[in-house]
Amino acid sequence: MAKYKYGFIGAGRMATALATGLVEAQLATADEIIASDPSEAGRAAFAQQVAGCTVDADNAKVSTGSEIVVLSVKPQMMAKVLANLPKSAECTPLFVSIAAGVPLVKLETGLGSSARVVRVMPNTPCLVGRGASGYAGGNHATADDLKCVSELLEAVGIAIELPEYLLDAVTGLSGSGPAFVYTMIEAMSDGGVLAGLPRQVAHQLAVQTVLGSAQMVASTGEHPAALRDAVTSPGGTTIAGLEALEQGGLRAAVVAAVKAAANRSCELG
Ligand code: NAD
Repeated sequence: MAKYKYGFIGAGRMATALATGLVEAQLATADEIIASDPSEAGRAAFAQQVAGCTVDADNAKVSTGSEIVVLSVKPQMMAKVLANLPKSAECTPLFVSIAAGVPLVKLETGLGSSARVVRVMPNTPCLVGRGASGYAGGNHATADDLKCVSELLEAVGIAIELPEYLLDAVTGLSGSGPAFVYTMIEAMSDGGVLAGLPRQVAHQLAVQTVLGSAQMVASTGEHPAALRDAVTSPGGTTIAGLEALEQGGLRAAVVAAVKAAANRSCELG
């Protein structure tokens, strides 16, 4: 019986967000969580955020002592980390990789071909409990394993199971999407300044407008076009703005941005 329920190899930002989410969602108590990291400062920050957990410099302690091992190191570190983990027939945790762009075949090769592995593509809003993740199970991941991963990810947002080949598209949409939305917020704020608002006021209004609009789509379940039609009066202000958006090609630009990011993810993978 593993001593810890969840182990994290790499105690950085994403690991901290996930572990905090697990405790807040009562999926684990802090004493059921262990994290390893070579950085003393990293371990200290994780231990402070997840008060009552165990931290260690040794990755092997995490992989041999946990039921679920989250691989939360940077993608370029993954091969080295996997090569140094002990391979034992007795300890068979579920491995969950959140490293962007590292395919299941590489994870399974590095961990041993019978390893139970799930690959996740999370996004930065996981850090504030509003993540959007896609995940795909490896050859030996069971239905229970996928359920565990869904619970873990839903502690910090939403999670959708997909075939692995679609994770590049997830990278293009929800992985890179926050940067597209930040650009939209900045541009709306600039528009407010151009129309005469002080910068701070324009920024506050732009942020709340994006937050509120997303919440309207999520809460009402209405199609975005129906919500847009409802606020667009004949000959009014909104249709004048929408005309300018269409002339500027916003819709085509956003579609192209998601596709370009997905294509780039595919090239890097
Ligand atoms: P981070 O740099 O905050 O954390 C990585 C941690 O790994 C660091 O604390 C580092 O000290 C540690 N580390 C380095 N070498 C190690 C080793 N040999 N053994 C154990 N730990 C080691 O990075 P992050 O933002 O938390 O990202 C972690 C993973 O999540 C990455 O693979 C990234 O692709 C993925 N991811 C992150 C985001 C995001 O929004 N931050 C989004 C999608 C995917």
